Amino acid sequence: MAWLGMRGRKRPGRALPFPAGPHLRMAQLAKTAGFDSVVAFPEECVSELQSFKPQVLVAPAQALLAAAHAIFAGDLLLESIDVAIFVLIQIGDTPVPPPERDLIWRAFRVPVYELYVDSESNLLASECEAHDGWHLRSPNLQFFLEGRELLLCCPHQPPIRTGLTASCTDGRCACGDIAPLLRAVTENFKSLAASAS
Ligand SMILES: [Zn+2]
Repeated sequence: MAWLGMRGRKRPGRALPFPAGPHLRMAQLAKTAGFDSVVAFPEECVSELQSFKPQVLVAPAQALLAAAHAIFAGDLLLESIDVAIFVLIQIGDTPVPPPERDLIWRAFRVPVYELYVDSESNLLASECEAHDGWHLRSPNLQFFLEGRELLLCCPHQPPIRTGLTASCTDGRCACGDIAPLLRAVTENFKSLAASAS
């Protein structure tokens, strides 16, 4: 699902958030890169990825888990990654469950940050530096809770149902970032149960 409000406009820079930066070698497991200064490596180009020696790796959770298993099996060597892993979570998907997140961390041994994106890699929210939730990353983007479900809305656009919930949706963050923060973002099991009945 693309974020409708961003269509037809000049696209803003799509820089990855801290601790990424253009001075780093940054790779994305994908056919095309969704962010500035990031080089894309499709699945069949693993050897090129190793030669590139990325310091930052961006990918959906399933691709990162596959890479983690390949590392544990000795089939993939990515010891160059020394800054961060960014996990892409598209609208409709859920945050990475703790056991899977732990597996990704054990494979790469660097901080893991979730990025909430639409299908065109527009960054909607990104995990707090202090891992205390997700900060909204689009200035026009607002959120509200309907029941327990987290909805995202942009002016003149219908709200997007996320299938997620958050336990706290206001207040200043200890990390110093003043962007709105969503805390304890998880799958909204309650609404799913209600819709199934
Ligand atoms: Zn924060």
